[in-house]
Amino acid sequence: MQKQAELYRGKAKTVYSTDNPDLLILEFRNDTSAGDGARIEQFERKGKVNNRFNYFIMKKLEQAGIPTQIEALLSDNEALVKKLEMVPVECVMRNRAAGSLVKRLGVEEGIELDPPLFDLFLKNDTMHDPMINESYCETFGWVSKAHLARMRELTYKANEVLLRLFDDAGLILVDFKLEFGLFNGEVVLGDEFSPDGARLWDKQTMDKMDKDRFRQSLGGVIEAYEEVARRLGVNLD
Ligand code: 5GP
Repeated sequence: MQKQAELYRGKAKTVYSTDNPDLLILEFRNDTSAGDGARIEQFERKGKVNNRFNYFIMKKLEQAGIPTQIEALLSDNEALVKKLEMVPVECVMRNRAAGSLVKRLGVEEGIELDPPLFDLFLKNDTMHDPMINESYCETFGWVSKAHLARMRELTYKANEVLLRLFDDAGLILVDFKLEFGLFNGEVVLGDEFSPDGARLWDKQTMDKMDKDRFRQSLGGVIEAYEEVARRLGVNLD
């Protein structure tokens, strides 16, 4: 499968068309951004680690009955995926307080959230991904009620699967963001799952092993991603 036109260049990935109108190629670049693209740096091996990591997680989610866009790994930094009609809404699941929740409510970082919280954000960099809710989706027509209900169901299901997977690897899944799209009218998980869009803390030390290392200038960004991948058994050779 060959890359054709560049369709979209995001902050960490580039999307290409292929000769099959139903398939796209995702290229995972070494770029890492924070602050809605205000700060960008390159980390060697990042594209490869995130591509392999994403493929591994998407396969696990598929095995658990969650439809995903992933088709095949094409190279170190490329994956073949289904072309989805993306929903411009981010689904965030939180098992512990961190990030924007701590800022918004002033709760202590790390407290357990039982039951977990489900948040929605509009995907819009210029507006800094504002928080929204179900009625906004309906009023502005971003996604139908039925599709949103399915996105919510799949996010909870993914949380169940991933909490166990990371726990077995000695990690706490603090929170994560998923993006969905439609393929032949069905809600399908798109975008990526990697330490760029999830918070993962070491169970013993509570060390941050995710993109917060970049956001908070803690250093050792890619080393932490590789350690997480290694513990899960992701092939990085
Ligand atoms: P928060 O709302 O605390 O900023 O983020 C909650 C979780 O969703 C974190 O794991 C964070 O990495 C992820 N997340 C939320 N929005 C984005 C986004 O626009 N890009 C990425 N890569 N992750 C996001």
